[in-house]
Amino acid sequence: MSILITGGAGFIGSHLCERLLKTGHKVICVDNFITGDHSNIDHLMKDPNFRLIEHDITNPILGEELDLEDVTEIFNLACPASPIDYQKIPLETLWVSAAGTKNMLDLAVKLKARFLQASTSEVYGDPLEHPQKESYFGNVNCLGPRSCYDEGKRFGESLITNYSHKYGLDTKIVRIFNTYGPKMRAHDGRVIPNFITQALSGKSITIYGDGYQTRSFCYVDDMVDGILALMATKDFKGPVNIGNPEEYSIKALAEKIVELTDSKSKIVYKNLPQDDPKVRRPDITLAKKTLGFEPKIKFEHGLKKTIEWFKNIS
Ligand code: NAD
Ligand code: UDP
Repeated sequence: MSILITGGAGFIGSHLCERLLKTGHKVICVDNFITGDHSNIDHLMKDPNFRLIEHDITNPILGEELDLEDVTEIFNLACPASPIDYQKIPLETLWVSAAGTKNMLDLAVKLKARFLQASTSEVYGDPLEHPQKESYFGNVNCLGPRSCYDEGKRFGESLITNYSHKYGLDTKIVRIFNTYGPKMRAHDGRVIPNFITQALSGKSITIYGDGYQTRSFCYVDDMVDGILALMATKDFKGPVNIGNPEEYSIKALAEKIVELTDSKSKIVYKNLPQDDPKVRRPDITLAKKTLGFEPKIKFEHGLKKTIEWFKNIS
């Protein structure tokens, strides 16, 4: 019995690989390293229960040739996730959510495997409902700079739902809210790695806009708990929000990181990117009820662990 994880060399995917190996599973990581990092999985390469297949999932993956017959679960995480990343490679981003997801669904049908899709809070766009419940249809600009990601993920949700109906596939959709922790790339452009690396190097901390836009940050270990709990459910497909409902302004985040790093960095203000969501906070009532999910890691503790990690790699 093996578990296949696409995007397993990325930030969340590599934590998931680690956790599943620790709990005695065989893991197959499929990644093309477009935004992933070898250093996230280098330490796993010696583990006989770990296998890496370097492959772009927008091309079909063939079960017989790659000896995938014993795969019982597929976690489909492959997709650039940082706005800076996906706006550099918008077509690859659209295509991995469309063709990549289709190819992995075809594999799941062939292997009769359970399938979990990493979707996103971005399906709610710049939300007009707050906090966001799964029933909210969202407010996405289908032509804007974030649309390659948002619309790709929305298409993915529809594709999965229709595969599930047509082929009786056991599918799950998790809507992941902002997640942070060790193994984020220092230059992936997301707010927590940006602020921590700026604070540690004494460079100016770049707030986009007035800093009163909000986000709710979930530590990666909590996210992995939620994803695994969802995959373990029977007769539940989601979509379900997983995240931490504590909400912070970006300005408050900058000030907290300056305080925790004891930094002399100044805060500077830059233009707010187009279509940047003004608020974001998950309603996790459904996750609590169906998965018993409750984030455990306090924000300050998670930030301290992340800061330590960035100190050690710099
Ligand atoms: P990441 O960029 O660190 O990881 C994505 C991984 O997918 C990388 O290793 C990349 O190389 C791989 N990949 C991309 N395209 C591929 C392709 N065509 N074939 C094979 N591999 C490919 O991002 P992450 O933060 O770990 O996000 C993982 C998943 O969770 C993504 O699907 C993302 O949309 C979703 N998500 C993440 C967050 C977050 O806050 N981190 C929030 C919402 C949703
Ligand atoms: N942000 C910022 N400074 C940075 C990076 C990001 O002010 O150096 C802001 C960004 O405009 C957004 C929030 O922080 O309002 C979260 O950005 P991120 O790219 O981490 O994720 P998003 O939730 O927008 O996908």
